[in-house]
Order: sequence, then C-alpha cells, then structure tokens
Amino acid sequence: MREPQVGKFLGAWCLLMLSLPIAILWIRPDFESGQSFATLGKLAVVLAAVSACGLALTYAVMRRYSTLTAQFAEFIGALPAQEKDLPIEGPAETQNLSRGMLAMAERVRVVVEQANTEASRRETILACMAEGVLAVDSQMKVIFCNDAFAQAFSTRIPVTEGRTLYEVVREPLLRDILQRVLSSRTPETDRFQLPSADGRWFEARSLPFGQKNRSGAVIVLHDVTDIQRQEQMRKDFVADVSHELRTPLAAIRGYAETLLDGALDDEANRRRFVEIILSQSIRLNNIASDLLVLSELDSGKEAPMQSGHISVLEVVQSAINTVLPAAGLRNVDIDGSDCQECAVVGVRFRLEQVMVNLLDNAVKFNRPEGNVTVACGYTDKGKVRICVSDTGIGIPSGDIARVFERFYRVDKARSRPAGGTGLGLSIVKEVVDRMGGTIAVESQLGRGSKFIITLPAA
Ligand code: ADP
Repeated sequence: MREPQVGKFLGAWCLLMLSLPIAILWIRPDFESGQSFATLGKLAVVLAAVSACGLALTYAVMRRYSTLTAQFAEFIGALPAQEKDLPIEGPAETQNLSRGMLAMAERVRVVVEQANTEASRRETILACMAEGVLAVDSQMKVIFCNDAFAQAFSTRIPVTEGRTLYEVVREPLLRDILQRVLSSRTPETDRFQLPSADGRWFEARSLPFGQKNRSGAVIVLHDVTDIQRQEQMRKDFVADVSHELRTPLAAIRGYAETLLDGALDDEANRRRFVEIILSQSIRLNNIASDLLVLSELDSGKEAPMQSGHISVLEVVQSAINTVLPAAGLRNVDIDGSDCQECAVVGVRFRLEQVMVNLLDNAVKFNRPEGNVTVACGYTDKGKVRICVSDTGIGIPSGDIARVFERFYRVDKARSRPAGGTGLGLSIVKEVVDRMGGTIAVESQLGRGSKFIITLPAA
C-alpha cells in the first residue's frame, strides 16, 4: 500500500511534470522562429520556476520532519518521566511512529517503576537487617554499605558510594577477605574478632558477584559476640565445675586410701581423717545441689502454680531460724526487728533460698561477736526493699561487681572451709532477676557489707 506522505510528494511531482508540456508550448513559437534569445530567456524562467517549486516542496517536507524529530528527541530525552506529551498528528506515518513511541514509553515507565520498587525494597530490607552488609567493586571501592555495618565500625552514615574500603573501614582483615574473594571468585565463611569494632565477634559470609569489569564482592557480618560469650562462659563453667569437684574428690580419695593403707589403726588420726571425708562429701553435695538449683533456674522450669503472694516477713523469720545455729556457733547476733509486713509475688522457697544464702554469708564472713541486721518494708515508690547488713570482713571494691559470678570467691581460703560453693550469690541474683527485682551491694573493707534487694510489691 502506498504511504500517504509519499503520495502527496508524487502528486506534487506529477503536477510539476504536467506543467512542463505547457512550458514547452510556451517556448516552442520562439524556438521555431529562431528567436534564440527569447527561447533561452523563457527556458531560464521555466527552469527557475521548476527549481523554486522543487526547493519549496523540499523545504516544506524537511521542515515538517525536523519539527517532528525534534519533538521525538525531546520526548525520548525526557523518558522515563512522561511529562512531555507526544501529539498524535501530521501524516499517518508520523502518527504511527508517535503511537509506537507512546507505547514504548509506557513499557519503559513500567519497567523503570518495577526496577525502582525492587531497588527500594532491597534497600529497605538491607537497611533493616541486623547484619552488616558491605559491597565493593573490583577496585575495592564501596558501592553499598548498610547502617548496621556503618554502626558496627562507627562509620559516618550514609556512606557515599565510590569511597575506598580503607576510607570506610580501617580493618585489614576485611580487606584481605574481600581481596581473596575477588581474586578466587569463591565464597568464604569466617569467624573472627575485630578490634576496630570494639573487639566484637563476627561471623562473615563473603560472596563474589558480577562478571569481568562489573564484578565485585559482598560481605555480610553477623554479630556473634553474645553467642561467643555464651560459648566461652559454658566452657569456663564446665572447667570451673570440674575444678571445684576435683578438690573434694581428691581429698576424699586421698584420705580413704590413707585409711586403707594402715591409718585405720592410727587411733590418734583416724577420726580426723573420716571427719575430713565427711566434710568434703558434704561440700560435694552442696555443689551438686547448688548446680541443680542453677540449672532449674536457667531452664525456667518453675511451675507457674508454685508462684503466688509471699509474706516477706514470714520468709525472713524462717530464714533467720535456719541460720541461727551457725550464727550461734560464731557468736554472731541476728536482728530482724526492723522487718515490716510486706508482700511480693514469686516462689516462696526460692525467696527463702535467697534470704538463707545472704544471711549465711553475713554470718560466715563476719567477725566473732559480730552483728547481722535484716530489714524489710515498702519503699516510697511502693516497692519492697529487703536489706541484709553485717559487720564482717567486707568486700574489696574491685570484687563487688564480680561476687555474683558463678564460682567467684573473694577469698577462696576463707570460703571453702566454711562450706562455700561460690554459687550462693549467683542463685540469689538469678532468683531476684526472675522476680523482676534488682540487687545492689554496698561494702567497706573490714567494716561490713550490705545487700539490698528491691522487688515489685504484690
Ligand atoms: P560462697 O559459697 O563462697 O559464700 P557466694 O556466691 O555466696 O559463695 O559468695 C561469693 C563470694 O562473695 C564469697 O566467697 C565471698 O568472698 C563474698 N561475699 C559474699 N557475701 C559476703 C559478705 N556478706 N561479706 C563478705 N564477703 C562476702
């Protein structure tokens, strides 16, 4: 099918051609009569008219097309925004072209919109991630870094693209890993401690991406400091338990062997040896029971029905009665007269365990003829406060923060013979924490200590 614009052009051309015979008829009389000057003059007029028409036609067509191409260029330049409108007008072929370009612009807009949505979704996910994510190109220039990563290394956010890795993180270990991944193009998983991130532990997964000059590597850092600490604590705890058990077990075995080797007939010493075996087995038993309590507390196995309203006054009196014989042996006086009726919610025998541990320590680490005072009641803020003060040896300021650690003793030589396991205060802290309370210590070396428990009132 003939295109309309070409048709118009052909029409104009035909008109021009048709005018030629007229021009010939106009020139012919002069040509035949041999008036060459007039012939040439008329020929020149005809040629001038033909070329003027041709020029005018070409100019009109060119002008139309240059306006249209300028419109198209402006429209394409503004993509994917569709602020520029493309009018559907003019010859049919340009109308078709305009329609095609409008359809293409719509497709481009949809694709760009999808890409933008995808990019912003990815960026939101990466920004919300607790893991630090950093990507570098093949020149080790940072192309992406999320907030978690920047925060871990105290880097100013947002991290502008194109900065070198060294400018963002001064961590040779990360640089080495990324360089290895870039050159080997194989993923790597490592676990390490980074001094530049406050000594925190990270599990890092690094992966290469892209091809040739558009390649790079991404590293994802998962903070495992707490897991690492727990693993270390577990290892230390197992080591501590074995160490604590080994001492009484060695003593029991040693004295039993000595008795069998003939000391059974040694009237002067055999009773003492058996007493040592007994005291060491009591110590083993104490350690085992304290460990059991801690394991029960750790596993949170407390039956909810055991929890209820507890009268603190009753618990304090019962605990005082439990430690009275030990206090009597050391001539330590226990005064519980400053106790008022108050109630908390929790498991009664656990609170009693707390009070017995605190009172037992207050007696154990006291001087002969010393005093222990127990006070309890409501605070101005409506909480329940229990204080256990003693006039004992006190705790050095450097050790106060550590006395709640498992197996921590300020003076092992004093605690062990007194039957201490080093677990009492860990149990106290664990129970108080579970009851939603806090425990604080005030102590003066050589003058005494004060343990203050604050619990939510029932
Ligand atoms: P232990 O079985 O040794 O008493 P605890 O966990 O109860 O273990 O206490 C840990 C350490 O805290 C004790 O070994 C002791 O050094 C110190 N301590 C606890 N209570 C007192 C106190 N009232 N006076 C002085 N030191 C104390």
